[in-house]
Amino acid sequence: MSNCPICQTEYVDGAVNFCFTCGWDLTPYPVTFTGQIPAAFLDKERAKLVWAKQTWSRILDTQYRLNQQKADISSQLTEQLTQTQQQLTKTINQHQQLQATLDQITDRVVKELLEKLRQERAEEAAQLAQYNTGISSWEQVTRERAKLAAQLEQANTKISRLKQLVTQLAQDKIGNIISGYNDDDDYDDDIDDIV
Ligand SMILES: [Zn+2]
Repeated sequence: MSNCPICQTEYVDGAVNFCFTCGWDLTPYPVTFTGQIPAAFLDKERAKLVWAKQTWSRILDTQYRLNQQKADISSQLTEQLTQTQQQLTKTINQHQQLQATLDQITDRVVKELLEKLRQERAEEAAQLAQYNTGISSWEQVTRERAKLAAQLEQANTKISRLKQLVTQLAQDKIGNIISGYNDDDDYDDDIDDIV
């Protein structure tokens, strides 16, 4: 096992061509080059290696900072979300309370109105009944008056006839008395009858 010269990731010699973490070329130099590599080439290679390590280190730093920022933003968002959820829950509770209060008030007002209407209708019905009774009584009185007037008229007619009859009888009696004045024994009784 060897380690990648740039990122130190472990790998099996000859099994992979590139580091799967940083992508560095891991293939060995050709055997024919051994002992023949010029010093200038090796210096260049070493310089590339240093540059690659620094670059990888900067990438890791940047990645770390980005991860930190991401974590911060995520934390802030989570906090904001929690606060928003709490406010939402509070608002929903307030809304439910308001709705319940509104329902109670509506219920009470409707009941009161219905009760008022019921009372008014009862009062109207009572007044109507009283009025009907008054009309009925008035009609009865009118009928009684008409009946009494008819009876009075009949009585007057009778009285009138009786008066005529009495007058007639009186005249007849007086005529009889005058005609039989001297020999009528019942004179006093006849006078009494007329009076
Ligand atoms: Zn690597």
